[in-house]
Amino acid sequence: MAMSESDGVRMHADERPWYLYVHVPFCRRACSYCDFYFVTSQRHKARFTAAAVREMGMRSGGRAASLYFGGGTPSRLAVDDIHRLVAAAQKNFDFFPGAEITLEANPEDVDCPEAWKAAGINRVSLGVQSLYDDELRFMHRFHAGTQARQALEAVARVFDNYTFDLIYATPGLDDDAWRRTLDTLLAPKPPHFSAYALTVEPRTRLGKEVERGKILPPDDEKFVRQFDILMDAAAKYGYEHYETSNFAQAGFRAVHNSAYWRGERYWGFGPSAHSYDGERYRCANVARLDDYLVAIENGTLAVGFEETLSDADLHNEYVMTRLRTAEGISLSEYVRRFRRSLSLEGLTPGLTEVVDDCLRLSRAGKAFADAVAASLFV
Ligand code: SF4
Repeated sequence: MAMSESDGVRMHADERPWYLYVHVPFCRRACSYCDFYFVTSQRHKARFTAAAVREMGMRSGGRAASLYFGGGTPSRLAVDDIHRLVAAAQKNFDFFPGAEITLEANPEDVDCPEAWKAAGINRVSLGVQSLYDDELRFMHRFHAGTQARQALEAVARVFDNYTFDLIYATPGLDDDAWRRTLDTLLAPKPPHFSAYALTVEPRTRLGKEVERGKILPPDDEKFVRQFDILMDAAAKYGYEHYETSNFAQAGFRAVHNSAYWRGERYWGFGPSAHSYDGERYRCANVARLDDYLVAIENGTLAVGFEETLSDADLHNEYVMTRLRTAEGISLSEYVRRFRRSLSLEGLTPGLTEVVDDCLRLSRAGKAFADAVAASLFV
């Protein structure tokens, strides 16, 4: 459905902050496990930047608490383009002082992180994934392990606030190698990191290889074991395990992603990016760069999907996101929000605990966050 530029004001009714996301779809190559929207052609970067700047103008107004460049690979953009996008966001939204402005980057693109800082970035999220070359080859990543370490050191020299991603429970990663990875990377106490168990999505290269029997499907026991190793290492180096896959030193929780888990409102710019009004309305831009560019260049929003969340959707998403956080579900806030008590009948004993007013996952339950949440769904 095509929307005009003036339709873009429909979500500006109050003064709650916006959390802004820009989806930069360009990647150097396709990683085997990746299910995000991306293109490997590097054409149209300038057109994309111009379109995203224009799209921000269509949705301007209100205060902003964060700006997050995700993808895709935002570090594929020229520094000038990054600067133009940051400046456009700051022109169209009133940023809180010190608002978090994150750039996702791949190790092979870290040449001059100082230039990103000068362009307005104050936090970098580095796609390390592994320090082992054979693991990185399995994932079809472009970089090597030494490059990841050098990139992390370069980022740490320039940014006080940075994070990196890791992937574990892959077929080739044994427990000792995973322990060594964590010891190596966490000993210097970087401010934040995220660790994700490998998941197999059907439309990916990895999904097809599993389907053909060339690669074994994920091993649940290995996942539970390596998740345990992860929690131990994080505790050893002083990290707060504040969301199932996210770990922070004091004061370094991710502002932008935490907003998603609290159900705050956000604008998404760029192909496939989602927007949400913090209540019931959610939409997504078309997940095709050409269609996105043509729509924006013609002065219309590029919304390809809209939905109104039902009571059940709101409930299930609330339960799912809150349960993954260290705070868990406040039972009194739940009553205020849903006008009834949360039924705990379907819960498996031992996987959760009620501390003060909050239902939280126990240590044993943390590996099963999504299954426990599903047992509370309506
Ligand atoms: S994992 Fe990141 S770099 Fe790899 S294809 Fe997906 S978006 Fe691109």
